[in-house]
Amino acid sequence: MPNYDYDLFVIGGGSGGVRAARVSAALGKRVAIAEEYRYGGTCVIRGCVPKKLFVYASQFPEHFADAAGYGWTVPETSFDWPTLIANKDREIGRLSGLYQKGVEGAGGEAFHSRATLVDAHTVRIESENRTVTAEHILVATGGRPNPHAALPGHEHCIFSNEAFDLPELPKSIVIAGGGYIAVEFANIFHGLGVDTTLVYRGKEILQRFDIDLRHRLHEEMAAKGVRIRCHTMFEEIEKRSDGRLAAIVNGGEVLVADQILLAIGRIPNTENLGLETAGVKTGVKGEILVDSYSRTNVESIWAIGDVTDRVQLTPVAIHEAMCFVETAFKDNPTEPDHDCIATAVFSQPELGTVGLSEDEAGRRFANVEVYSASFRPMRHTLSGRQERMLTKLVVDADSRLVLGAHILGPDAGEMAQLLGIALKAGLTKDDFDRTMAVHPTAAEEIVTMYKPTYLVKDGVRQA
Ligand code: NDP
Repeated sequence: MPNYDYDLFVIGGGSGGVRAARVSAALGKRVAIAEEYRYGGTCVIRGCVPKKLFVYASQFPEHFADAAGYGWTVPETSFDWPTLIANKDREIGRLSGLYQKGVEGAGGEAFHSRATLVDAHTVRIESENRTVTAEHILVATGGRPNPHAALPGHEHCIFSNEAFDLPELPKSIVIAGGGYIAVEFANIFHGLGVDTTLVYRGKEILQRFDIDLRHRLHEEMAAKGVRIRCHTMFEEIEKRSDGRLAAIVNGGEVLVADQILLAIGRIPNTENLGLETAGVKTGVKGEILVDSYSRTNVESIWAIGDVTDRVQLTPVAIHEAMCFVETAFKDNPTEPDHDCIATAVFSQPELGTVGLSEDEAGRRFANVEVYSASFRPMRHTLSGRQERMLTKLVVDADSRLVLGAHILGPDAGEMAQLLGIALKAGLTKDDFDRTMAVHPTAAEEIVTMYKPTYLVKDGVRQA
């Protein structure tokens, strides 16, 4: 058996890479990890964590407004963007440090360097201009925003990365995209007082979610004051002499704003990584191709997380890391399970979902029951806020299996997490029905919708 410097070398210090490095090191393996930027990766540094902090920041104006109905007088308020940025930076600095310390505390070695593949067992640590060898190499380099290079003037636009560190809060913004990032940022900027327009090429935002929630979220966002333009695409971006930006959209209309944010998907970080040199195969988007155990075509090289473009979510990368450790080091081959993943869009109102949408269920099952409730949550009664909540269960009428659970409203993400357990466990509508409600909560609707609202037969909604 050849004598390698390490049992495992991980390239990329994001959620997936750090988890694999830390757990492998804790098993007593000789582990090194290299990160060229900051430990924590997209999620901690320029994704989930700062995004959620921004969501909280953007919700305060509604809280202040709602307080009056509960008897509070709120003095004049003001918002300071640099304070939010500084506090956010302090928190992600703390978390980034914890990520690195976690690996080192478990006995791993953490490099601050770009690392590239040389061959099946060799990695170059670029900052030290030396190579090391490892029995296993794990590539977890993540992804980055699609730059939309085909759009004339795209260089004037910002992406989610820049949105987290703008020197000043813009007065107006136009956001392109209808996915997670575009919708979340549209709500964040609107909540912080920015004049916000969302431009989406399709028929309705959030294509991969249940249609009723998509429509309702669209309505609620529009009622708050976010302008949403569907069937609209940028044709060109121009910088004007006053420094503002002009987006020319299909049909010739011009949308002018201080900033234009492109959120049209993310692409894998695979350039100049030595993949070709090492003989690792990639797909059409540049993603690393792996088998169901996250192994590439080169036996000693593995890949997990966004760089493989399977499911671009932090918990999925972490799960893939844990499966990799089982497979590579514990003699327990384990395939990541990508089925029935609960997820949330931190829009306002929030959207939480798990399982099949009504349309997907209708395509796959002949007899579908839909249970749906739309109501004003209790917290909005005294506040006078008109926003309504939507809960929806999609059930296979033949087996009684709950196929999908969809919530739009306060804390929908928290509910989706718990509903995820029920759906993963394969619970039936009867299990939901015999579960006692927690009263008074909004979530109790999930166990008190006793009669189907309507049926979907062979994919067609019945009146
Ligand atoms: P998404 O895949 O969610 O959405 C991309 C959007 O861009 C879609 O609406 C798509 O339209 C549109 N689009 C794609 N190409 C073009 C184009 N050429 N011109 C105009 N519009 C285009 O990607 P995001 O960038 O929003 O997010 C990336 C990933 O990050 C997500 O897939 C998600 O997994 C993850 N993420 C998760 C979050 C969470 O868990 N809360 C939060 C943020 C990100 P169409 O629908 O027509 O294809």
